[in-house]
Amino acid sequence: MNFSELGLCQELSQAVADLGYTEPTPIQEKSIPYVLMGRDILGSAQTGTGKTASFTLPMIEILAAGRAKARLPRSLILAPTRELAAQVADSFEKFSTYHKLSMALLIGGVSFADQNAALSKGVDVLIATPGRLLDHFERGKVLLTDVKILVIDEADRMLDMGFIPDVERIVGLLPPLRQTLFFSATLSDDIKKLSDKFVSNPKVIEVAPPASTADTVAQHLVWTSPKGKREALRGLLRSEDVKNAVIFCNRKRDISTLVTSLKRHDFGAVALHGDMTQSARLDALQKFKDGEVPLMIASDVAARGLDIAGLSHVFNFDVPGNAEDYVHRIGRTGRAGKSGRAFTIAASEDDKKYVGAIEKLIGKPIPLAGDARSEAPQDASEAKPASRSKKKKAGSRRTEADSPESGKTESGRKDASKTESASRNESGSRNESGGNDDNRSRGGRSRRKQENAPGELPAPPECKGDTLQDTGHVPAFLLRS
Ligand code: AMP
Repeated sequence: MNFSELGLCQELSQAVADLGYTEPTPIQEKSIPYVLMGRDILGSAQTGTGKTASFTLPMIEILAAGRAKARLPRSLILAPTRELAAQVADSFEKFSTYHKLSMALLIGGVSFADQNAALSKGVDVLIATPGRLLDHFERGKVLLTDVKILVIDEADRMLDMGFIPDVERIVGLLPPLRQTLFFSATLSDDIKKLSDKFVSNPKVIEVAPPASTADTVAQHLVWTSPKGKREALRGLLRSEDVKNAVIFCNRKRDISTLVTSLKRHDFGAVALHGDMTQSARLDALQKFKDGEVPLMIASDVAARGLDIAGLSHVFNFDVPGNAEDYVHRIGRTGRAGKSGRAFTIAASEDDKKYVGAIEKLIGKPIPLAGDARSEAPQDASEAKPASRSKKKKAGSRRTEADSPESGKTESGRKDASKTESASRNESGSRNESGGNDDNRSRGGRSRRKQENAPGELPAPPECKGDTLQDTGHVPAFLLRS
């Protein structure tokens, strides 16, 4: 199946080919023909399934005929967060390369003047968060009586964030005769009931069971103590082949603490959370997307919809209290068929409950790091990078590859013993920066052994060897408490 077989014009097929899309994803294949027919859609699709193109491509096709009038947008896409709205706008621009369609993005935190100027010229597509759109409406800068196509994206998120009254108010300003495309990550009973208010005789499209996790993400669970979380995270960052990663925290105040701590240990990191100004958020996101900094420490604001090409890892520094957030967080990686790795660091009694709720929701246990089952079955060759021997050479403490099941080779062990001095200087604070005073003062294992703070897990016993098999010691954070 190719894009033109779905009924899209040559220009759109060319635009997607330019982006390297060879064939439509399931949500695109199922929804594009119905959108082109003018049907309402009630769509459920996981993040990363190509949902944005499933509505923007046919919208461009439909809007290609016709012209925009000043302050009277012809279509409206509502998104719950600024980031998501900006991302949809980005996709729209890419897909409409060969079309002369105009667009305005109305999101908070950026100047009204520019948005106003775009509205006054007339736009074919208006992409907005509900609050900012109502601000413009109340100032008399936009009229919604000409909107023929409405998209409500990430409706479940809108519901969680309390935006539904605003959405209802906006929909009340639209003509009743219109086409409505309603998308949600899940189609729960609440969402179905809610959708009844907006869609009429919709084509229901589901491309993945609700709240399932993509098979392309290898999931892992790591147990540690509350005080050992940062060390466990650093250990993972060093032992994994992390190209770029989003690290999720539950509380905004913990984000800056973690950023500072990671920087102190020579990791490049930026923060992204809802209390930052819009320009600081966009700036952080840009640096991360451009690969200037490999780690983004984020709150759940970044969990939905954000599309970061080729994200190699997601770390849950905190287990999310809401099981669905887990699905959305780890869905930032393993997108568009690529493999990804997700690690969740659990440490408390509450975490046990949260992990239980997540496992119930996703319908399977999250394997402990080191458990062979934690590897993504679909892309095992990529998920188990050849760099494991490299990791050993680097003398990193392994959280998973040292496990007996990991099939560590003899040569791997030899490599590790060559770097004995590096290995000795470990307990999560391996001196990778080579000369950092902070790291040096933490010293090797024997000194640390004497220096346990009250409440800290005991240091590992003095032992010889570099692998779990050699030492017989299982690090505490690999144990499910
Ligand atoms: P979305 O679910 O819309 O956020 O899309 C997730 C990612 O998949 C984005 O990076 C898109 O560029 C990419 N994508 C969307 N459709 C396709 C396709 N047909 N082929 C390859 N990649 C796609």
